Amino acid sequence: ARILQVSSKVKSPWYSASPFSSSVPTVKLFIDGKFVESKSDKWIDIHNPATNEVIGRVPQATKAEMDAAIVSCKRAFPAWADTSILSRQQVLLRYQQLIKENLKEIAKLITLEQGKTLADAEGDVFRGLQVVEHACSVTSLMMGETMPSITKDMDLYSYRLPLGVCAGIAPFNFPAMIPLWMFPMAMVCGNTFLMKPSERVPGATMLLAKLLQDSGAPDGTLNIIHGQHEAVNFICDHPDIKAISFVGSNQAGEYIFERGSRHGKRVQANMGAKNHGVVMPDANKENTLNQLVGAAFGAAGQRCMALSTAVLVGEAKKWLPELVERAKNLRVNAGDQPGADLGPLITPQAKERVCNLIDSGTKEGASILLDGRKIKVKGYENGNFVGPTIISNVKPNMTCYKEEIFGPVLVVLETETLDEAIQIVNNNPYGNGTAIFTTNGATARKYAHLVDVGQVGVNVPIPVPLPMFSFTGSRSSFRGDTNFYGKQGIQFYTQLKTITSQWKEEDATLSSPAVVMPT
Ligand code: NAD
Repeated sequence: ARILQVSSKVKSPWYSASPFSSSVPTVKLFIDGKFVESKSDKWIDIHNPATNEVIGRVPQATKAEMDAAIVSCKRAFPAWADTSILSRQQVLLRYQQLIKENLKEIAKLITLEQGKTLADAEGDVFRGLQVVEHACSVTSLMMGETMPSITKDMDLYSYRLPLGVCAGIAPFNFPAMIPLWMFPMAMVCGNTFLMKPSERVPGATMLLAKLLQDSGAPDGTLNIIHGQHEAVNFICDHPDIKAISFVGSNQAGEYIFERGSRHGKRVQANMGAKNHGVVMPDANKENTLNQLVGAAFGAAGQRCMALSTAVLVGEAKKWLPELVERAKNLRVNAGDQPGADLGPLITPQAKERVCNLIDSGTKEGASILLDGRKIKVKGYENGNFVGPTIISNVKPNMTCYKEEIFGPVLVVLETETLDEAIQIVNNNPYGNGTAIFTTNGATARKYAHLVDVGQVGVNVPIPVPLPMFSFTGSRSSFRGDTNFYGKQGIQFYTQLKTITSQWKEEDATLSSPAVVMPT
């Protein structure tokens, strides 16, 4: 039975409440505080990845619609930037409450469009909610600096000020969390925001926009357009957009970073990954195997922080059969089905790509210890399912090692020493996340110190930093110089103004022009 329906409690002007009816519902644009039907003649189908049924259509916004969205953002900016910081904080405080109250509804939309399990979808919303909660501390985060009496009667102080109109381009894999990394942080600083969600999973963003409006965000402070390349090019080129936040693949991210930078914008781009879990023979075996399996196959491997590569050091290689046994026990099913551990991949093309990468492992001499390519899920025969797959005897020159697979596939390498493992990780171009499993503090410290990866877990398989820190992927996993959320996020969405101010007593008035550079 399909339990996924958007509950009638939630008014959904952006999306029909009956996604399985014969007429295909459409996703609206959000322009100047209104959910409006697009006049576009170009539409993209949205599928339920568990069935491949078309559940909706999303427009490729027209140029006029995108222009209207920018006009709205630009018009709303001065008043929003001038709104007291306490009032902006109040909007965010109400917003975090509304997200909590609607968390399950947002999660249902995520499972419907993206495929992940309901429990995992709730985690998706929750991790975004934490960023909203942190954004509520803007009153401290946005403080500038002061330096009194830098010379006689002169004080120096700086303000952090919003940039203007900022934009966000999001991927399909975290339909709530990643948009919530973007517009709440930007808006609480006083910017207005143009959001382009992933065309595969727009529903959660639309509901989040409605909740933000219900929290008191004025019309025009958030606008939402839909589309693909044309919308992305529009964002990269438009002179009124001052900054772009992008999360997605390297192919798109590098393009957007270059094109946006060329047009004078700040760009932060979080991109692809190949995250290694290094397993030392002294690790707590039970814990490590469970963590590895959870982090490799959870969300069907469609997480940028999925632990997709295991490096078994020394005797730890003997744990491979047990790893396989644990992975075999995972239940693959539609995300709304009770007990499902992992759901389908996003599209048939994604499934084909993942299966081709598994094939490449066989051709290049690796061993498939667990093969999920032929899995059939009862009642969901048309879904994009791949079961947990483990490829061993993998070498760094193999395609399945070099490419980000982004599916439920764990590739396993073996080394004799920790030093060799570190070398492998550091030779990989990506620097998103990594983890070491060990009971030896000195080993853990050495690894954390020497590994050239932005986010390191010690006995923590998916070390995504909490929002008081920042998401610090590095090397090929990131372009830009200021990371998402935390203090770095505030820096990204603000610029400094520094004021040098002199107030002299009347009897200290200059008697002649000061023509020399002040020292
Ligand atoms: P994607 O790059 O295909 O799409 C992301 C966004 O870019 C979408 O809004 C899409 O419309 C747009 N886009 C796609 N192709 C484009 C192109 N050629 N030119 C311009 N715009 C384009 O990414 P995806 O498949 O939605 O997401 C998966 C990828 O995102 C993986 O590589 C994953 O590692 C990465 N990701 C990274 C992080 C991180 O924080 N590092 C987080 C989540 C996902």
